[in-house]
Amino acid sequence: MSRATSLRDVALYLRGRLNTRLSQLANARDRTPPVVPAPIDEVIRGVRTPQALSRLLEGRSNPEREHAVARYLRALAVPFAAHRFASAEGAGENFGVDLGTGDRVLLLAAHHDAVPGSPGANDNAASVGLLLQLIERLAVSPPAKLRVRFLFTAAEERGYLGARQYVLDNANVSELAGVLSLELCGIGDSVVVWDAAEETPFLRTVGAALEGVGLRRDQGYHVVGRIPMFGSDHRAFAPLGVPAYGFTLVPSANADALRQFVFSPLRSAFRHLIRRPVPFDTYHTPRDRGGTLEPPALALALRALEAVIAEVA
Ligand SMILES: [Zn+2]
Repeated sequence: MSRATSLRDVALYLRGRLNTRLSQLANARDRTPPVVPAPIDEVIRGVRTPQALSRLLEGRSNPEREHAVARYLRALAVPFAAHRFASAEGAGENFGVDLGTGDRVLLLAAHHDAVPGSPGANDNAASVGLLLQLIERLAVSPPAKLRVRFLFTAAEERGYLGARQYVLDNANVSELAGVLSLELCGIGDSVVVWDAAEETPFLRTVGAALEGVGLRRDQGYHVVGRIPMFGSDHRAFAPLGVPAYGFTLVPSANADALRQFVFSPLRSAFRHLIRRPVPFDTYHTPRDRGGTLEPPALALALRALEAVIAEVA
């Protein structure tokens, strides 16, 4: 480890290792039959809804997932930047696609890796599928005064290592208008913007966009503060003063149970042992499969993100 390695990096590294190990142990006992991955060419040639595109990654190993993203972008002739990293904590490759022009950047991230033993459909192939479809839709008329950066990160499950390496090597922080990290976007009817402890202009813009598509605060969408035991790529940006939040879908019927679950460090830490509310019932398990994804959830997430882009632009 380099001298620059901070205590925070060590903590994230240990949490990432624990995350991986606990999933391995819990998933080894699960008798759910493994997912047979769809042939990549078949996915590329097929319908390109977020759900269909999630099959690019579902059931594959992390190197295969990474490879599938690059192969898809090349097949559709989408220009992208590749950022390969290797550190004492691990290695991987992030991919970035920029659309639009201007000085400001809205960064939308979705990690392409999964924990061992999980097909990783809702966490996080669905979000990757969402971003891939957003790229296709936005390419038709990209914003004139905003660049939207779609960042597909590696090794999020290792304490968002890919995003941290991206920030170290690439990010021109001053140009970032805001960051949203998409996690678990495939199940539910209500948007959660999380790790949003303080009001910021970007958070107000996100709220206005969600209101604009007919969502009401505390019903169609929720803004919640820092969540103790979970994290995602946006946390790599937040310490630099960039407004950066998690973006997740949940079933509104479970709002109370979810609040109890995610805000209790004890329940979160021992999540492998307790009954968990949807969507955490399949999270990091062999049951996180494409069949659990809900097309209306993905459609809502897509509509919400298009509104955010339009509102920031
Ligand atoms: Zn995830």
